[in-house]
Amino acid sequence: IYTDGRRNSKGINLNINSQFQPLLNEMKPFLERTYSAGPLVGFELDHESSERHDVICPWDHGRTIGSVRWSSAEETSRAIDVAWKAFPDWNDTPVEKRAAILERFADLMEKHMAELMAMCCMEGGKLLPDGVAEVREAVDFCRYYAARAREIFGAPTPLPGPTGESNELIMQGKGVFTTISPWNFPIAIFCGQTVAAAVAGNTVLAKPAEQTSLIAHRVIELLYEAGMPREVVQLLPGDGATVGSVLSSDRRITGVAFTGSTQTAQLINRSLAARDNAALPTLIAETGGLNAMIVDSTALPEQVVADVVESSYQSAGQRCSALRVLYVQEDIAERVIETLKGAMVELNIGDPTRLATDVGPVIDEEARKGLQAHIDRLKSEGRLIAETAIDADTAASGTFIAPTAFRIDGIDALDTEQFGPILHVATFKANEIDQVIDIINERGYGLTFGVHSRNETFTNHVASRIRVGNVYVNRNIIGAVVGVQPFGGQGFSGTGPKAGGPHYLLRFANEKTRTINT
Ligand code: GLU
Repeated sequence: IYTDGRRNSKGINLNINSQFQPLLNEMKPFLERTYSAGPLVGFELDHESSERHDVICPWDHGRTIGSVRWSSAEETSRAIDVAWKAFPDWNDTPVEKRAAILERFADLMEKHMAELMAMCCMEGGKLLPDGVAEVREAVDFCRYYAARAREIFGAPTPLPGPTGESNELIMQGKGVFTTISPWNFPIAIFCGQTVAAAVAGNTVLAKPAEQTSLIAHRVIELLYEAGMPREVVQLLPGDGATVGSVLSSDRRITGVAFTGSTQTAQLINRSLAARDNAALPTLIAETGGLNAMIVDSTALPEQVVADVVESSYQSAGQRCSALRVLYVQEDIAERVIETLKGAMVELNIGDPTRLATDVGPVIDEEARKGLQAHIDRLKSEGRLIAETAIDADTAASGTFIAPTAFRIDGIDALDTEQFGPILHVATFKANEIDQVIDIINERGYGLTFGVHSRNETFTNHVASRIRVGNVYVNRNIIGAVVGVQPFGGQGFSGTGPKAGGPHYLLRFANEKTRTINT
């Protein structure tokens, strides 16, 4: 099992240079290539039928790294025809065969690690440690779901019954699934959702994020190379308005697995519910977070700050799990803030292929503008604590946002999740702890949460009252590991079940009992 690329969970630094230099050498040819992508479907395509979109590197706007042909609405409907027809045979395919494809796919991703990392870097702006973590997590998902699928979809479970009657429980796929994936984990989450749906016996229409279609295309090529039939998993790059809306409004879609914003999940939910003559759908949504960390006066400021910096600024804060609001007990607030300021000075912003870089770009101009507007507003209110310096050349070369920290009164001062390297800091008095917990709970998000304290009664109290999916005590709050910290939240943060957890595949399955009068 993999732990974070730069530090393990005990905060021990690994030697980055010796770990990544050989990989970087292998990545070089792929960093210089240009890529092309488009729909990958189980029927003959008319290649002229829709527009191509150029892909610009987020940290070097002078570079076009490839182009993507988006799927048309008509192609999307035809892909649904194919998936619908392919479902019965795929659902009847022995689970051993389906699971073995996932394992071969995992092996192939490991073999093509340098290429996939280079694509994550060029198209997604990911640093090398994040690229390694990305591929490792995708591999872990495939192996974990293959193993779980054998248990769930293997032999039927015998059930009790009276003499002369045999009963058993059989698990099968539900039908045609749409998977809609985010750009921030363009391999891990994209693969996790897609292979989970497929290994459970469903046929799948995979819509990757527009921003990371080149990566998705390469990943699905590898999935086909591993033996996945083309009609079972089809790739439909494109925008939400065209591809996404067909994939959530067609009556033959049995379920949608979605990772992205809470607002989009609500839109998909409405679209599924509005269909005439459609079976009741399954929606599996992993959505946003306004993740908090509570630090009491017994915590160690240096450890707190190391974990806060990782949680808020690693991956440029572009993780659903990232820390957005730090609540520090008044008594140690100034020490924590001074240490944080010192740590923020040390961060390097820039080219993600440089081993010294700590914070890469945000994904695109739209993201940059939204984050900058939030920063400008808080600065104009005089709330800035610290901002990491960024040199003018770097700032001009791509969509960079320097890490910032701001003072706020509390989580209820924030309207929405800011998906970037922005931390908000609030303070509380010892006797206000239950009030703070209530305010966090009432804000309605419930994804990740951290507590730092050396008082076990305190950590137990906070951890048990807080309503979130993933609680972390005395460590950072990002980088959930498949099978170790199953990931996903509640409330505005998602429907569950948790990705990389023992129950995930069950949501993609129908339960059927068979009773035989013997
Ligand atoms: N599983 C990731 C983590 O623990 C976050 C996933 C996401 O951003 O959607 O950091």
